[in-house]
Amino acid sequence: MEKEMTIADAIKEFKDELGEEVTLVAVSKTKPNDLLMQAYEAGQRDFGENKIQEMTDKHASLPKDIKWHMVGHVQSNKVKYMAPYVHMVHAVDKYKTLKEINKRAKQNDRTINCLLQLKIAEEDSKFGLSETDLKDLLASPGLQDMEHVKIRGLMGMATFTEDERQIHAEFEKLERVYFELKDNHDFDTLSMGMSGDYQLAIPHHTNMVRIGSSIFGKRD
Ligand SMILES: *Cc1c(COP(=O)(O)O)cnc(C)c1O
Repeated sequence: MEKEMTIADAIKEFKDELGEEVTLVAVSKTKPNDLLMQAYEAGQRDFGENKIQEMTDKHASLPKDIKWHMVGHVQSNKVKYMAPYVHMVHAVDKYKTLKEINKRAKQNDRTINCLLQLKIAEEDSKFGLSETDLKDLLASPGLQDMEHVKIRGLMGMATFTEDERQIHAEFEKLERVYFELKDNHDFDTLSMGMSGDYQLAIPHHTNMVRIGSSIFGKRD
């Protein structure tokens, strides 16, 4: 049996494996602050959460140089709580949400980084936009006026499956759409890959992976 890795070991191994080009977002949802601090002390600064309330509580008590990533689906009525500090919102799939983020960012005199979520998985439960709807959203006239939102790229989640060929096909789609839009929309961020599938995302040019359980252990 291998000895349990510490959180600091896991951070170090991921950083060595991913290199400088790929940003590691440590997804710390459901985990207590002392575990986040172990990652922080190992040099980790980007943390991901999927609930605005939990992220806001953690932001209040943890060091202020942490970059907070909202990786979960966003409810418009809660955007105001994260607007003062959130670094990046990963899973935007509605014009209405962008509009609300823009409004709240403006009130805080900030610009908030956003990613649009492309639906690549087969499962119905996953959020995200179809390719057509995503392109239509990017073409919507009102977007030009949203001066406090910066759409930095795309995010996606593959189907939870053992079938690597299927995961490859889904990541390949996200990669294709990203590179199709990249130049015209000034994209620089492709958020793709989690604990179970990030190694499959690397050949598809991911530059941001969202890793939870492989750093912090299983969630209850
Ligand atoms: C929880 C979560 C992750 C991390 O999942 P792990 O399998 O624990 O690495 C990544 N992305 C999103 C959107 C999540 O909700």
